Amino acid sequence: MRTPMLAANWKMNKTVAEATAFTTAFLPLVADVADAEIVLAPPFTALAAVAAACRGSDVAAAAQNVHWEPGGAFTGEVSLAMVRDAGASHVIVGHSERRHLFGEDDDAVNRKTRAVLAAGLTPIVCIGETLADREADETAAVLDRQIDGGLAGLAADDVESIVVAYEPVWAIGTGRTATPEQAQQAHAHVRRRLAALAGGAAADRCRLLYGGSVKPANAADLSAQPDVDGALVGGASLDPRSFAKIVDTCRKAV
Ligand code: PEP
Repeated sequence: MRTPMLAANWKMNKTVAEATAFTTAFLPLVADVADAEIVLAPPFTALAAVAAACRGSDVAAAAQNVHWEPGGAFTGEVSLAMVRDAGASHVIVGHSERRHLFGEDDDAVNRKTRAVLAAGLTPIVCIGETLADREADETAAVLDRQIDGGLAGLAADDVESIVVAYEPVWAIGTGRTATPEQAQQAHAHVRRRLAALAGGAAADRCRLLYGGSVKPANAADLSAQPDVDGALVGGASLDPRSFAKIVDTCRKAV
């Protein structure tokens, strides 16, 4: 039995005051949730404030990115020691905006994923095809390449403890969601590929989140799919009531 996870990716949104106000409003709404893991990923500047506000609750804080090096001359980058010091237990790795806007490739995703695991934190590794990939019938090949490249060298134990987010690029921030059938088909494919990489038991335990325009209205149908173990939510996670509704809907549907 996989514990569902609902993760909020706030991207480049919310000041410290706004992030704290969200968390203060959100925590009471999910105080009774014991059957799902909830993660908030604020921008770096608000990470310590959100983690501090979550202390004493079951809600965790995540960084949206990290550098794999422990320190040094890397202007603008943030290390794992820094995100851990800020109170993060999870790190989003390889989000499509990092890949497509900032040139992050599978090798960088792999270095980051391995560094996050070595630091004892949980990576949420994002994969997903573009619309052109899908229209060219390349979805499976793209997912395979991202899994093989991004997760190269991981032991079965690692694969079982990471979280993989399938986020079709054409569905992120577009209001266009994959159908539950499309999501299930992709997730089943990802799980088979993970099994080939790390064995069936590890693949079976690995949580696979769907991401791409998840909202309270579509969360139940997506989460009801057998290989969908929760959601990574962007736009609809910016409002505490909306994200709490998604949490509630998904945990009941999974
Ligand atoms: C995301 O940021 O990972 C995402 C899925 O965004 P949205 O929910 O806005 O499509």
